[in-house]
Amino acid sequence: MTILLGIIADDFTGATDLANTLVKEGMPTVQLIGVPDGDIDLGDAKAVIIALKSRTEPAEQAIEESLEAIKWLQAQGAQQFFFKYCSTFDSTNKGNIGPVADALMNALDTDFTIACPAFPENGRTIFNGHLFVGDILLSDSGMKDHPLTPMTDANLVNVLASQTDKKVGLVKYQDVQGGADSIRSAYYALKSDGYSHAIVDAVSDEHLRFIGEASKDLKLITGGSGVALGLPNNFRNQGLLGPSTEIDIDAPTGKTAVIAGSCSQATRGQIAYAQKHIESFMVEPMALADGQDVATKALEWAQSRLGDQPVLIYSSADPAVVKQVQDKLGRDEAGAMFEDALGKIARGLVDQGVRRLIVAGGETSGAVVNALEIRALRIGPEIDPGVPWTETLGTTKLALALKSGNFGTEDFFVKSFGMLS
Ligand code: ADP
Repeated sequence: MTILLGIIADDFTGATDLANTLVKEGMPTVQLIGVPDGDIDLGDAKAVIIALKSRTEPAEQAIEESLEAIKWLQAQGAQQFFFKYCSTFDSTNKGNIGPVADALMNALDTDFTIACPAFPENGRTIFNGHLFVGDILLSDSGMKDHPLTPMTDANLVNVLASQTDKKVGLVKYQDVQGGADSIRSAYYALKSDGYSHAIVDAVSDEHLRFIGEASKDLKLITGGSGVALGLPNNFRNQGLLGPSTEIDIDAPTGKTAVIAGSCSQATRGQIAYAQKHIESFMVEPMALADGQDVATKALEWAQSRLGDQPVLIYSSADPAVVKQVQDKLGRDEAGAMFEDALGKIARGLVDQGVRRLIVAGGETSGAVVNALEIRALRIGPEIDPGVPWTETLGTTKLALALKSGNFGTEDFFVKSFGMLS
């Protein structure tokens, strides 16, 4: 089976976000964690997303990994390629958006691409080349103080121009508003004037669908997950993709658990709610900090309780406790220690027969995915915005939901399992 759309994402949660968009548009999608080193069964996938961690790496390394990924995707037969980055265009003057896009264009032997991070549903819009976050310019938003990728200029034409030697142009609102043909004409005009990149204005999902349609013949598209909205239909119109039906996962039966390592307010609220309905075990932060084997304790606790009803194991604590732990261990050491313990707990739970698992926390999810040696996820139906159920491929089959700390409704840990048949 060959795939249609090959995608490189510069971080893990960004990859899931885009996968979720494609699945909602009826395109079967698999997310890979890094470039696979062997054969992998992609099932019915028509889009494959390789999640890298290249956003803040040195540009040379990001280029090298992205080129390896594109080569792999080309070998799977992909016809069109997408470079996914954050909807706030997270990057520095050195990259990595410009350098990676240039390297991919070179590898694909194409001389024109677009850059459109707009995601109106989440308040990211582009007007006259300027990126807005909600009502304010990117450069006035919290992103100006980001520790790794501070964004101090909202003019994306300037930002991208500072990262590439090629010419960066703009497809303006008026052209986008005119629909796919008018956008395509703008592409041709820019191309014939020697432009290689075009920032494209977009303030609504309708614009993103116009842009998607207009970009049918572009070998490479770069942007946020929004601009992928219109792409599945292009393949559908060519008879390459079936009708848009709801995509489900084949959830294995087995024991059910939730692991939470996020200390965000939303996750702590979800824990408080869940505790009224299901049994829970707290990985005592100070006991862990004192070097006790709390992972084994948690697994012993779980053994007699695991079944159809989910159990919850969490290390999440309020800011005062987190501070106490961090003061004792240091911030990074504390994070690594909890991630290691929660990863071991995930491994132990799966060994005890857990097949339906929710993980709360971005870094925590990364640790669990590593501990379970998961390399591929087939993306299923959305539980709450940005959080789909997934099915692991090529390893012990699990129904797995990886939730960013702040995502999900209060009853998330209880209601989600009800969606699985
Ligand atoms: P979020 O998605 O909310 O940012 P993450 O999992 O990415 O959640 O980050 C939470 C971090 O806090 C992880 O590194 C986790 O290991 C760590 N952590 C979890 N529990 C505690 C705790 N009680 N004290 C200190 N750090 C903790």
